[in-house]
Amino acid sequence: MNLFWFRRDLRLDDNIGLFHALTSSEEVLPIFIFDDSILSQLPKDDARVTFIHQQLEKIQTQLQSNGKELAVFHGKPIEVFQKLISENTIQSVYTNHDYEPYARKRDLELFHLFKEHHIEFKTSKDQVIFEKSEVVKDDGTPYVVYTPYANKWKENFKKIKLVHYPSEENLHKIAHHSYPFLSLTEIGFEISPITISNYDVSASLIDNYEATRNFPALNRTSYLGIYLRFGAVSIRKMVGKAIASKNETFFKELIWREFFMQILWHFPHTPRSSFRPKYDAIRWENNEELFQKWCDGKTGYPFVDAGMRELNATGHMHNRVRMITASFLCKHLLIDWRWGETYFAQKLLDYEQSSNVGNWQWAAGSGVDAAPYFRIFNPTEQIKKFDKELKYIKKWIPEFETFDYPKPIVDHKEARERCLKVYKEAVG
Ligand SMILES: Cc1cc2nc3c(=O)[nH]c(=O)nc-3n(C[C@H](O)[C@H](O)[C@H](O)COP(=O)(O)OP(=O)(O)OC[C@H]3O[C@@H](n4cnc5c(N)ncnc54)[C@H](O)[C@@H]3O)c2cc1C
Repeated sequence: MNLFWFRRDLRLDDNIGLFHALTSSEEVLPIFIFDDSILSQLPKDDARVTFIHQQLEKIQTQLQSNGKELAVFHGKPIEVFQKLISENTIQSVYTNHDYEPYARKRDLELFHLFKEHHIEFKTSKDQVIFEKSEVVKDDGTPYVVYTPYANKWKENFKKIKLVHYPSEENLHKIAHHSYPFLSLTEIGFEISPITISNYDVSASLIDNYEATRNFPALNRTSYLGIYLRFGAVSIRKMVGKAIASKNETFFKELIWREFFMQILWHFPHTPRSSFRPKYDAIRWENNEELFQKWCDGKTGYPFVDAGMRELNATGHMHNRVRMITASFLCKHLLIDWRWGETYFAQKLLDYEQSSNVGNWQWAAGSGVDAAPYFRIFNPTEQIKKFDKELKYIKKWIPEFETFDYPKPIVDHKEARERCLKVYKEAVG
């Protein structure tokens, strides 16, 4: 028998690893493992765990209509596999690539376990169009600036055919088994009170994306983040939608996602250290009280506060506001970008290590393709450009323009000058 291990590819359609498993075997046991080393760090009502479980239920319903079942386990992957190996004769384990540093380490350990038992570990590229070193400079080194990366990405894209893999057509090969489908309660979790928005990739959204995407009050972005993060949709199908549109802007965003993924692949130390090493010499203030005010949306800067309150209430924050809040934390408050990155990682439904680290380092000035550090967002000027009618701000700050709304915790001009001084000392 062969195994297919679902990870961040939670769908039955156009799933490359599943397609290969089903077309090259007679019987495939489909499994998912709730990894205890990840789960043990999360609150019991984490919305992402609810989302994952809901996707597994969708898979289960689809399989049951074919008389089959998904096996869902809870534990450390290596221990779950040791048990599965002791109870079955397994020839191959199929799965899709996962590029994050933790996943790479986990997969290497499993590779050794499988080798010991003469089991093949067959992995496929599924969550991106181009991975690892498929888009590099002519001399083989990685791009660290977005535009030339995107140009090469598009050049390479012209040379390939966007194929879909009809994994859903071979479900009759799923094995009968008696393994459990664990419920949310059985893994020690409960349903999150947060409602997750549906995604929208309609022609009207994509065609107007460039004109509307920067205005948080309009809510006209795709909300694809969490669906892409857990592979609930196929990236090939989403890219297909993007190229069918007249407008390239949305397509470019999907390339940003792959840009940061390949950065993390080539520079796996960047979740901990600045991409530009000099920036690790910055003398951060790291004032805990100010950090808490930032987290709670009580800085007295309305755009920052609205964004943080949106994040705390919904697990989402509009991209423009992510840029403003992140810049404010690093530059106005002189708090280490890693503090902000960690807070976003806890709260964002679409948390993706590569994008979060990449964008935080961009905001701090220490990352790839970052603007010069002396360009500092003015959070008040940003309102005039992107929330002129104050709709977004009033939505999230009911006490705005009353005496209950806090006074600014730092003075913009002074904070700006302090930031320039401290950054200059570190990076020259
Ligand atoms: C400080 C900061 C932290 C961020 N953290 C994350 C994160 O953890 N996970 C995440 O997916 N995105 C992150 N982003 C990027 C971006 O804000 C989100 O992808 C976007 O807001 C998600 O909403 P959406 O799906 O409606 O996006 P849309 O605007 O509809 O974009 C469609 C898709 O394109 C991709 N995309 C768009 N912008 C970016 C970008 N700048 N970088 C990488 N991919 C992009 C995403 O996959 C997104 O779902 C972060 C941005 C900043 C400034």
